[in-house]
Amino acid sequence: MFDALAESLESAWKKLRGQDKIRESNIQDALQEVRRALLAADVNLQVVKDFVTEVEKQALGADVIAGVKPDQQFIKIVYDELVKVMGDTNVPLAQAETSPTVILMAGLQGTGKTTATAKLALHLAKENRKTLLVATDVYRPAAVDQLVTLGQQIKIPVFEMGTDANPVEIARQGLAKAKEMGVDTVIIDTAGRLQIDGNMMAELAQIKETVQPHETLLVVDAMTGQEAANLTRTFHEQIGITGAILTKLDGDTRGGAALSVRQISGQPIKFVGVGEKVEALQPFYPERMAQRILG
Ligand code: GDP
Repeated sequence: MFDALAESLESAWKKLRGQDKIRESNIQDALQEVRRALLAADVNLQVVKDFVTEVEKQALGADVIAGVKPDQQFIKIVYDELVKVMGDTNVPLAQAETSPTVILMAGLQGTGKTTATAKLALHLAKENRKTLLVATDVYRPAAVDQLVTLGQQIKIPVFEMGTDANPVEIARQGLAKAKEMGVDTVIIDTAGRLQIDGNMMAELAQIKETVQPHETLLVVDAMTGQEAANLTRTFHEQIGITGAILTKLDGDTRGGAALSVRQISGQPIKFVGVGEKVEALQPFYPERMAQRILG
């Protein structure tokens, strides 16, 4: 496990060998390798700095345990810290005491938000939860049709009012419809832009105010790497997220965005998207992601 990191740490270990304690003087090369490994995995620079400082704090003064190679011990410290920062365990979706549970999907265009909306509904259907999807993205050509088609494919109803209606009004009526239908979950797909945009944020804030969601999930494209940090910061500051879905993890990214998203927002990643198909959604497990990031 962690062959890539272990290999790059090879020369750094030499300084640790024969030492009784991990000290500042013998750990710097090893920390530098961790920094490099995390940057190569696309973790945001500031997040890397904070993380490495924490690892250094944990490692300093740790007794080199007899019979345990210091390199193994150091890797364990890094791994444990990664898992801890990413939240230790999977955090399930919130569930309202009184139905319906309202889930608001947020994110930039092209991240996989509409796909994730359908994926989530299918996931809930497998747990016998009945969902209504609400299509409020009236700006992206064909976004409403896309959700309707996905809904048909997975046999989940979709509430839409075409593309001329006001998104806040669609959300309000969609929620009323969900109550009328007696479904236990309503998932609201919202508009994204190619970049963060004041109007998009204002509209999202208004929808949030109107539907009072139990979950506001930020959909983040794992392939955006470093950028995931800025995106998370802006959405969390302006809208307030309760979790995230990291998409496109079937790509060749090591998934460092997961660490950035969690560290910056303090909110858990709840699911990962691992393909274009509507079944390609998995719960997020910090341990698996830590292994992937360390390579
Ligand atoms: P939206 O603009 O955020 O609603 O994005 P879409 O849901 O339309 O997705 C944009 C593109 O990303 C589509 O081609 C999707 O098939 C694709 N996509 C979404 N999620 C994933 C994923 O987890 N893996 C891969 N490989 N592609 C994805």
